[in-house]
Amino acid sequence: MKTFEYDAATAVDDAVARLAENENAMLLGGGTNLVDLMKLGVVGPTTLIDVTRLPLHDIDVSDDGSLRVGSGVSNSDLAVHPVVRQRYPVLSRAVLAGASGQLRNMATTGGNLFQRTRCVYFMDASKPCNKREPGSGCPARTGEHRNLAILGASEACVATHPSDMAVALSALDARVVVRGVDGERTLAIDDFYRLPGDAPERDNTVARDELVTAIEIPAPADGTVSTYRKVRDRQSYAFAIVSVAATLDVEDGIVRGVSIALGGVAHKPWRARTAEHTLLGAAAEEASFRRAIALELDAAEPLRDNAFKIPLVTNLVTRTLAELTVSGDRS
Ligand SMILES: Cc1cc2nc3c(=O)[nH]c(=O)nc-3n(C[C@H](O)[C@H](O)[C@H](O)COP(=O)(O)OP(=O)(O)OC[C@H]3O[C@@H](n4cnc5c(N)ncnc54)[C@H](O)[C@@H]3O)c2cc1C
Ligand code: SF4
Repeated sequence: MKTFEYDAATAVDDAVARLAENENAMLLGGGTNLVDLMKLGVVGPTTLIDVTRLPLHDIDVSDDGSLRVGSGVSNSDLAVHPVVRQRYPVLSRAVLAGASGQLRNMATTGGNLFQRTRCVYFMDASKPCNKREPGSGCPARTGEHRNLAILGASEACVATHPSDMAVALSALDARVVVRGVDGERTLAIDDFYRLPGDAPERDNTVARDELVTAIEIPAPADGTVSTYRKVRDRQSYAFAIVSVAATLDVEDGIVRGVSIALGGVAHKPWRARTAEHTLLGAAAEEASFRRAIALELDAAEPLRDNAFKIPLVTNLVTRTLAELTVSGDRS
């Protein structure tokens, strides 16, 4: 690892100013991803600005039930917060499905959003990779891609986003609050992440010198139930092969509201809007769920070794929605 300077910020504006004035500086949350990438030589900041001492550690619950989660809240504290567990089980379960207890104690909500892909070529600085070194090529297309994208990929990159938490935030229509030197802006999580296109070096739409201060999560409609399911190679901690975050509102056997976000299939959490539109007003039964997700997956373009994700996602989504129907039907 190259030498670097360590700087701890105690005020948000100060952190943003220091980030803006040094193009080789990076923000440091829990360090559970960034420090690994520095050791591997994937990134080499000259300065780390520690943001864990900023006053961004609160989870505020509004009168309408919506949440504002500070970016410095640890993954552990987010998952066990009583309101998150009770009203947002999809989020609590997604966070608990990620990493290990020790890692979740260190990892921050802000850092989790920005964690980088686990594509093996990206993490090996001796290999070409368009995401790490634009224009160098994408060996994953013909090489090791079992765990990579089947939706929304490009010639330049077929990576998947690794965060479980972000998949739940997508299903919940969360918004990301970002601070830069010119002030604050708020983005829908769907606009925060991006598909690779011809610029896979960019994972998201946030500028290098912006800092995430919070995530806002609207209150779920009354009667809505939710959950997160993850398929992985081993039960102990491992990244998702595929996952689903779903919310469902069923009344008299009819789907009144539904959101479905998929993990492990694309460069960003994949919001299954075709499936959602198909399901609204349909009978809440297995045949409808299977048909809807099959329509969504019509757009899939699997690679040589990852076509198995299509039936896996189909079965996972169908089963998850069927189970939510049993627990949440208000008929
Ligand atoms: C062995 C292992 C297994 C794991 N398994 C899983 C898993 O199954 N599922 C899963 O989802 N994750 C998993 N993770 C990843 C883990 O969740 C992330 O490493 C963690 O969430 C990153 O948070 P952090 O605070 O440590 O971020 P850091 O490593 O400190 O930072 C990550 C990135 O975020 C940026 N950043 C940090 N804070 C901010 C901010 N406020 N605003 C803007 N940018 C910011 C940093 O500059 C950096 O680029 C695993 C990690 C390890 C090491
Ligand atoms: S899939 Fe993306 S991250 Fe992986 S090698 Fe190709 S360009 Fe790099």
